[in-house]
Amino acid sequence: MATTAELRRLWADYECKPEKMVVVRFGPDSIRVAPPTGEAWQALAAVLKRYGYLIREDDTDSYNCRAIKDGSGRSLHAFGIALDVNWRTNPYRDHAGKRAARYSSKATQSERAEDVRLGSADTDMTAAMIDDVNAITTTAGKRVFEWGGSWNSLKDAMHFQIALSPDDLAAGIDPASVAGGAEPDDDGVDDLTGLVEAEPETPGVGVAPRGDLFRVIARSGLNLRGGPATTFEILKNLPLGTEVFVAGRQGDWAKIDLQGDGLVDGFAASGFLTPAASAPPAPQPLLATPMVPSGAGDITGRVTPDHVRKMFPPSVAGAIAANLGFVLSGLRARGVADRPMVMMALATIRAETEGFVPIPEGRSRFNTASVPFDKYEPGTGPGRRLGNTRAGDGARFKGRGYVQLTGRDNYGRIGEQLGVPLLTDPDRACEPELAGLILAQFLRNEQQAIRTALARNDLKLARKLVNGGSHGFERFKDAYVKGLAALPA
Ligand SMILES: [Zn+2]
Repeated sequence: MATTAELRRLWADYECKPEKMVVVRFGPDSIRVAPPTGEAWQALAAVLKRYGYLIREDDTDSYNCRAIKDGSGRSLHAFGIALDVNWRTNPYRDHAGKRAARYSSKATQSERAEDVRLGSADTDMTAAMIDDVNAITTTAGKRVFEWGGSWNSLKDAMHFQIALSPDDLAAGIDPASVAGGAEPDDDGVDDLTGLVEAEPETPGVGVAPRGDLFRVIARSGLNLRGGPATTFEILKNLPLGTEVFVAGRQGDWAKIDLQGDGLVDGFAASGFLTPAASAPPAPQPLLATPMVPSGAGDITGRVTPDHVRKMFPPSVAGAIAANLGFVLSGLRARGVADRPMVMMALATIRAETEGFVPIPEGRSRFNTASVPFDKYEPGTGPGRRLGNTRAGDGARFKGRGYVQLTGRDNYGRIGEQLGVPLLTDPDRACEPELAGLILAQFLRNEQQAIRTALARNDLKLARKLVNGGSHGFERFKDAYVKGLAALPA
């Protein structure tokens, strides 16, 4: 078992980084945790469920940027790798001397809680439950959890922490080690794992049944937040038209599942969601349909390398001369050749790649811990968001092209839309002609929201619609402003 000091070092990337946390279901609750730990908490919830143990939302909590109780450093809660469960009935006790945890022998959770209140027990959980929690391992056989009630010198019975490194956790949880994890859900006990199923419906709220596909109807996009109130931080903006799954709700807030994988990614105000059609529209392969007419406002005929050089550092001049034609013909072919979208495309290239060439992503500390691109692998937070599902997807679908197309989802969707087998031949995304089409298709998919943002001069939002964040925003803005000046309307 790793010590607390070791765990702080192993999970340092997540220390007090709320924007890096993901929201996952934990019984009836939604908790914020470090992305690699999501599966582990679901295994813990499955064990508690097996015993019919009820989790209370109001005294169960996970991520919190705080110091450890003895003041010697940051709590593991600040790293998103610790969870306190039902703290009113599993108190923190700093007792004299050393002793083992004391369990109540009573049959029910409420009777055991009474023993805790009277001081004869440390927890309302049972020894069998804790044994089953301790038995949870990765597929490599490494134990996953440490329970605060097992500590000798004090008891923190509410507290469960991840006991191994992100790399060890990446092996995945061994389902056979999770007591009750594989049992069918026919036991009559309220569902507490929340893996796929949502909590019972409550009538009268403006959201249709759980797990259904909804579409964002907020004109300027809908904020996905870390919790069910506007006081929680914004995790990302979901553009107008985005389709999401609603996995449940809390008051007027919908629990949003972006990929339909049963994991909650955050919360959004349900008033800005409308039921989507039963199935998403089928993508139209480029080769089966005529080129999209570029229509009115096509300015690509008057965009020259001289104009574009003003938007980029001098060192890029040669690359602009070599590549501009591919970019402009892609924009024309996909019908996004008007001034705002051309500026958007060029400024996006400036933000995504320092050059003006369709290149594969190099390895860096952002994508690699030990093996190249392992930070995009299945089981990691980015890997999940990118739709990476098979070992090796991280490197296979690394960033490529003028916009750094990344991840199995994007390669699959754009490839299908262009009629090019990018999933089986991802390297082709760096061919200049195809890279130009990919950039254009990428922008076309978001064009309605991008146009709205640009019309309002909300460059931050426009950048976010492509990048998901503000990476490279200063370069993007600089290029966009210079481009408008170089090519007046
Ligand atoms: Zn704790």
